[in-house]
Amino acid sequence: MSLSQAQQFEDLHDQTTILVGSAIRLLCGEAGVFIVSREAFDPQSNAEHTLYRLSESALPPLLASIQEGIQPTSACPLVVSAGPPTSVVQLGLVPYDNGETSEREPQALERCSLYLQDHAGVLGVIHYLRPAGAYSCFERHTGSDGALRLFIAHLAAGLRAALRSQALVKEQGRLAAIFHYSTDGILTVDNALRIIDFNPAMEKLTGWRESEVLGRLYYEILRPRDRQGNALTLQNSPILQAFAGQVVVNREMVIAARDGQRFDVAVTAACVRSARGEPMNGILTVRDISREREQEEQRSTFISVISHELQTPIAIIKGYASTLARTDATLDAEAQRSRLSAIEEEADRLNKLVGNLLYASRIQAGGLQMEIAPLDLAALVQGVVRRLQARTPDFSVTLAIPPNLPTVMADRDRIEEVLQNLLDNAIKYSPQQRSVQVTCRATGDEVIVSVSDCGIGISLRDQEQIFHRFQRVGNHLTHTLPGVGLGLYICHAIIEAHGGHIWVESALRQGSTFSFSLPRVEKAQLPMVMF
Ligand code: ADP
Repeated sequence: MSLSQAQQFEDLHDQTTILVGSAIRLLCGEAGVFIVSREAFDPQSNAEHTLYRLSESALPPLLASIQEGIQPTSACPLVVSAGPPTSVVQLGLVPYDNGETSEREPQALERCSLYLQDHAGVLGVIHYLRPAGAYSCFERHTGSDGALRLFIAHLAAGLRAALRSQALVKEQGRLAAIFHYSTDGILTVDNALRIIDFNPAMEKLTGWRESEVLGRLYYEILRPRDRQGNALTLQNSPILQAFAGQVVVNREMVIAARDGQRFDVAVTAACVRSARGEPMNGILTVRDISREREQEEQRSTFISVISHELQTPIAIIKGYASTLARTDATLDAEAQRSRLSAIEEEADRLNKLVGNLLYASRIQAGGLQMEIAPLDLAALVQGVVRRLQARTPDFSVTLAIPPNLPTVMADRDRIEEVLQNLLDNAIKYSPQQRSVQVTCRATGDEVIVSVSDCGIGISLRDQEQIFHRFQRVGNHLTHTLPGVGLGLYICHAIIEAHGGHIWVESALRQGSTFSFSLPRVEKAQLPMVMF
């Protein structure tokens, strides 16, 4: 469907002007205006008047003077009055297309109004200015106005058709704009289900270009399936159902993109019928609901993961606390101490989880506050690694920091949380290869910190997901390890708030390297007010 209909509309407007101009010339007029009656006014075309050799500014005084005089009617369709106010003529008659102007004096003009009516009703009035005393060939036969009435009927029918065409072209333009700019995919088919229109949203959704799919069967392009994954039979295809008179509104199904990727959509089908009621075209609007589906899944995963993550430490705490509280328990000091430290660890885990949840909701609400100041990153990294090594002596943590690592602008506590999170993950997701490497390096604008492990790795497809909320990826193993998929989301928000970046390079079963960058102190944009 083409959007370039402005030219077509201009052409039709010109045709109406030519028609009005020819009529005025045949009536011996020099200039004038055709005013569409209220009954014939069509908001689709919005054309209220058509001027012929009369400037817009001359119209109000002309109409004001006409209001005062006798109006033409169906019984007396032509009214001739005294000359127009001089202001009308002074405001200027537009020169003819060949550049000629009228040589007549203003007082030599008179004003005529011709009532236009055809079988469909009143169309409007042509007001025109003509040399005083001039008569058109339609007025010469005194006693009979048959020729004038015949002329009026033909002119009115011609003008009605021109106005209707103008309205149609404008309507077509509006529909083309809706089709073109709709965010929902729209495709139309003929009665043999061959594609005849495919809008840009549909191109974006499916990866097909309109030129590639025109004339092809729509269900071969979309390859629709139901939500259980069964291919839809032709009888169940939404457009055929619409052809059969069924209502198809927001029906959920799965379609395929050009690259074979499948996604959830809600489709609405409609049928355009001929005057005899036969299906001529089918229209399918396609709304991508994969995001909504994902969010629904996220919500239910969130509830089950959070419940599980809360239940586990609570159960451990309760179990150990009950043992310690039993009066008949005979635990030695060492056994008591190990149970108390397990309770403390689980309480810490609960605390971290609740803290992360609060953190995530603050990020969502846009209320994360930062205290940004010059920061010696090398010292911070060394401190975190030292504490980690003390906590996990069975892990080998190597550290590579070049001398004179530049100072960065950052919030110390937040960056410590980011590094801690990356290190915890490196350890958690490396069940076999128990070594982690931390490196720092400087570029012209930034300092980059990387944490590398030789753990389970992340597939290329999953790497896009892991910085989103509640995303836990990978195999069964990942899901047996504690976590709710908030750590990297929080890290991402913190680093972006510093004007830095965080990213991952990873290969399945080989390991991962998570890196983040922070602006060097001299490159940071001040003042740094976050969120
Ligand atoms: P959590 O660890 O609590 O699940 P994160 O947001 O920290 O949440 O991580 C999101 C997901 O990214 C993890 O569930 C895991 O699938 C993956 N992931 C993170 N770090 C690593 C890593 N070092 N190696 C392999 N997978 C990782």
